[in-house]
Amino acid sequence: MQARRDLFPHVLEINHQARRRLGCCVYLVYDADEWMLIDLGYEDTWEDTVSLIRQLDFPLSQCRYLVATHADVDHVQALRRAKEMMPQAKVVGHPHAKTLLEQGERIETYAEISAQGISLDMPSVKFDATIDEGDVLELGNLKLEVWHTPGHAPAQLAFRMGNLLFSGDNIYRDGCVGNIDAHHGSDIPGFIESLTRIRDSDVEWLLPSHGPCFAKDNKQLQDTIDRLDRYQHMADFGTCAVDWPLLDEWDEELARGSD
Ligand SMILES: [Zn+2]
Repeated sequence: MQARRDLFPHVLEINHQARRRLGCCVYLVYDADEWMLIDLGYEDTWEDTVSLIRQLDFPLSQCRYLVATHADVDHVQALRRAKEMMPQAKVVGHPHAKTLLEQGERIETYAEISAQGISLDMPSVKFDATIDEGDVLELGNLKLEVWHTPGHAPAQLAFRMGNLLFSGDNIYRDGCVGNIDAHHGSDIPGFIESLTRIRDSDVEWLLPSHGPCFAKDNKQLQDTIDRLDRYQHMADFGTCAVDWPLLDEWDEELARGSD
């Protein structure tokens, strides 16, 4: 048996526990006899993750939920294998993630990026339930409030537990955000709303889907919001931008007949 390295009371993170980087953050939340996973990572790291979970003395038969923060392949490729090993665990996520994962969709989930030669397996998996804004996941005496925080992806969820927010791909410790990409369903105005909600909340710690956890810093959040606000008006962001002021200026210049 391996000693549990709690990140916070009732919360372990698999990369942190393993002291090496396996992939996306996989949070194990536990109370009383029950436990759950928030994201699972790629299939090829799943065996290592499961063997660690066993060494930490969490019986597989007592896993209550397998949660998809959203449907990206690097977060949920192992979901089907995990469900096969733990059939009693409920697979849950946003309704849009359910649609993508039940279909084994490949573009929106980043399994297929043909221009970069990326082509990964995306095993389809059936959901046991969908969860959305305002729902609560109960685990022992713990309650995790479900926040719908679209922006990076339409299905992006975050989970509040006391002063902690499992914040998904909303923001990382360096102020970067999850990819903004039209083919992924990203939405910059929605992203700004989600970050504003996090900024205005009384959450104290952010537990992101990539990289280490960190204290919520409203100045950093504001800088990030301001950066994304600029993206809305830049051609760099193509169909994710809401307008391009240069073309309005050009309209005026053309109408004025200026040389
Ligand atoms: Zn991600």
